[in-house]
Amino acid sequence: MVFELNEDQQQIQKWVHDFAEEVMRPAAAEWDEREEFPWPIVEEAAKVGLYSFDFMANCWADETGLTIPVANEELTWGDAGLALAIQGSTLAVAGIVANGTKEQIGEWIPQCYGEPGALKLGAFCVSEPDAGSDVSSLRTKAVYDEAKDEWVLNGTKTWITNGGIANTHVVVASVDPSLKARGQASFVVPEGTPGISMGQKFKKLGIRASHTAEVVLEDCRVPGRCLLGGKDKLDERLARAREGKSSSSQAAMATFESTRPIVGAQALGIARAAYEYSLNYAKERVQFGRPIIENQAISFMLANMKTQIDAARLLVWRASWMGRNSIPFKAGEGSMSKLFAGQTAVHVTEQAIQILGGAGYVKEHPVERWYRDSKIYTIFEGTSEIQQLVIARAISGMRLN
Ligand SMILES: Cc1cc2nc3c(=O)[nH]c(=O)nc-3n(C[C@H](O)[C@H](O)[C@H](O)COP(=O)(O)OP(=O)(O)OC[C@H]3O[C@@H](n4cnc5c(N)ncnc54)[C@H](O)[C@@H]3O)c2cc1C
Repeated sequence: MVFELNEDQQQIQKWVHDFAEEVMRPAAAEWDEREEFPWPIVEEAAKVGLYSFDFMANCWADETGLTIPVANEELTWGDAGLALAIQGSTLAVAGIVANGTKEQIGEWIPQCYGEPGALKLGAFCVSEPDAGSDVSSLRTKAVYDEAKDEWVLNGTKTWITNGGIANTHVVVASVDPSLKARGQASFVVPEGTPGISMGQKFKKLGIRASHTAEVVLEDCRVPGRCLLGGKDKLDERLARAREGKSSSSQAAMATFESTRPIVGAQALGIARAAYEYSLNYAKERVQFGRPIIENQAISFMLANMKTQIDAARLLVWRASWMGRNSIPFKAGEGSMSKLFAGQTAVHVTEQAIQILGGAGYVKEHPVERWYRDSKIYTIFEGTSEIQQLVIARAISGMRLN
């Protein structure tokens, strides 16, 4: 592993950074206030190629695995809410890649992006009112109608990014509830399918430019080919589970394993934004006749912020490199990266407010928004406690609770 970014990686980093600085930063406060999906910004991202399957594919092609976290850090440095609006479809894409066949990947992934002038969105629907951290207790059911070769989906999903406004929804549902997580499968619900609708749209503390809503499935029928991975593979997996044999990881978990370092990289972007802003402020703000950075209380705070950010980046890069090179996360390395980067984002943005004092608490400066935005990184795609559980189980080899 080389810590210096190569020329291609540096080019992408600069390209995404310029977009974040020129397009996202100036628009961030407005979309946070409006609390609506920022179509014009995503359109801009599509026009330059940032919101596209090609960009995703390019990032994945990098065998070091670093292009994805590097690009994500820059986007979130621009603004976390707008970044999630641009990146929200990626979770659906990850769900399709983790569980789908080659044909399904080819068919459905372009449906998650569309093209400039005709944008499309994807949504990944796992969480339910009674199944958040405990993904194994999903109540959404998928029943096979053999006569029509169709799956019938019923249930309610909650807190879904792009939920109800997406063109393609990837829904994780239970085929055999008695098998808990091992009885689940992922289904694509294509655009225009009757029986899928948006429930309530949530008002949020942060990342308010990203759309979060309930998704309601009422006798929602999808063709057999929408079962990701195919029926033969599912039947085989269910049979193994019924015999008590081990089966491959559950549908939702396979997706989260691959996306946790990406979420860690996003948390890193906000932390870096807040650190840079407060460092500059501390050099300029004069109290008692000298810049406040000349007080050790402030300079040490900044030293710790920078140290934590760099440590988080190393964990994120390691997990991304391991994930890209199919090196198993034997000690929960993906979870470690998300856990530490999420906690770093919350801590660093809080410290940034402290360094700005009253100016940090009001909307004239972006740090109050970054503080609100940062909190989600200890909650979604597995709370910090769930990451700790994954790590504890991995290092102990025990089925801890
Ligand atoms: C803005 C936003 C966007 C989201 N986007 C999506 C999305 O696109 N798709 C999707 O499927 N979901 C999405 N989610 C849902 C998110 O993944 C869940 O909120 C998260 O997994 C936690 O579930 P929960 O909210 O039900 O909390 P709960 O599971 O009810 O947890 C509550 C508290 O109990 C703790 N806890 C629970 N179990 C344990 C345990 N065993 N040990 C220790 N502590 C425990 C948790 O850590 C937490 O502190 C989103 C959520 C938000 C807020």
